[in-house]
Amino acid sequence: ATVDAAASYEILTVGAVPGYLASRPALRRLADPAALTSVREVGDGNLNLVFVVETAGGRGLVLKQSLPYVRVDPTWPITPERNRYEAAALRVHNAVAPGLVPEIYDEDPARHVVAMEDLSDHRVWRGALNEGLRHEGAAGDLGRYVARVAFGTSVFGLGAKGHKAAVAASVNPDLCEITEDLVFTEPYIRHEHNRILPANEDDVAAYAGDPDVRAAIGAAKLAFMTHAEALIHGDLHTGSVLVRAETAGAPRSTRAFDVEFAFYGPVGFDIGALWGNYVLAAARALALGDEGHASWVLGLAAQTWAAFREEFAALWPGRADPRVFGDGVLEGYLAKVYGDAAAAGAAKAARRVIGFSRVTDIETLPEDERVRAIRGVLRAARLLLVEGAALPEPAVLFDRLGDLL
Ligand code: ADP
Ligand code: MG
Ligand code: MG
Ligand code: MG
Repeated sequence: ATVDAAASYEILTVGAVPGYLASRPALRRLADPAALTSVREVGDGNLNLVFVVETAGGRGLVLKQSLPYVRVDPTWPITPERNRYEAAALRVHNAVAPGLVPEIYDEDPARHVVAMEDLSDHRVWRGALNEGLRHEGAAGDLGRYVARVAFGTSVFGLGAKGHKAAVAASVNPDLCEITEDLVFTEPYIRHEHNRILPANEDDVAAYAGDPDVRAAIGAAKLAFMTHAEALIHGDLHTGSVLVRAETAGAPRSTRAFDVEFAFYGPVGFDIGALWGNYVLAAARALALGDEGHASWVLGLAAQTWAAFREEFAALWPGRADPRVFGDGVLEGYLAKVYGDAAAAGAAKAARRVIGFSRVTDIETLPEDERVRAIRGVLRAARLLLVEGAALPEPAVLFDRLGDLL
């Protein structure tokens, strides 16, 4: 990362939003700057500014602006070009998986702003899971989302040349480097980002020092770096999902958002991100003595997988070039995605209890419960990594994981 942390473009503030909207033809129609009822900055992530704009009578909108540094650590520069990758992936994902991501309204490459649908009537899934709430159907919706992206942006959906052109346009090297470092490297070496409770030191050493774990993590890192299968989300944890339960007035809705990490990578990485975060949510529930919620959460893994499989298989007959890519290829592909998902799930769960960027599932637990939850997460991560691919029935796999948490 070689970006100058002094911004060469104007950073938005609440007060500047009406003027900004007036300057954008695509936006002033959607949110009349003279009729704004509220503008709030709601960013809670690590990286960006997010403004929710409400108007009298209108649908409102959301502005997301990339800073040239990490929001939570301004001494850490990151290219604001990530906003361009977010906008591009939002467009593509809206096309192949409509209704499963926010609609995109505008892209401003000069100010690194993307404007999108306001989903304030949804809530971030992680918080809902932490509270023990059950959003039925969300896990399956996300499996369908991953499948539609996996098919629609792949060789299968685009054909050979379409896929190659898309790969070339979507490499997103700076954000990939963050994942390579934070997910696949730092938890497995001595690193200043790692923060380990004394009572968990042996657990971390047993996990990260296990030769089988290290071999599997290395293989997963290599897959992440080289398997350009589809334009994956790249950061599909439960904090990158908005959910809305069905009510009398409105149907259930599930949206994957925060797609700035999107790049051409292995499809199993997205499934695994969900699985790893289900493990974290289940570990929390068990630490708090809520076995009912833990077993419901662990059951989500099978729901996500079944929906992924079914949706992908339903799209399969429409592949751009079926020559040679017969049905045996489909089975092999699904098995490959499954193995990648197990490894990625482990990597995504483990990094949240060893390295940089923690999750409320674990961090808000009292210390004794946190120690036990982290111990369980690391045992579960080891099983996922070392035996996951050989246990191809997710209900069986996640049942075994539950015993380790
Ligand atoms: P970051 O990349 O910094 O993590 P996110 O895209 O995750 O930013 O957005 C941060 C927060 O802003 C989300 O957790 C959510 O609460 C809110 N948010 C983001 N996009 C929307 C949206 N389209 N509608 C409503 N709220 C949103
Ligand atoms: Mg986020
Ligand atoms: Mg984030
Ligand atoms: Mg983000």
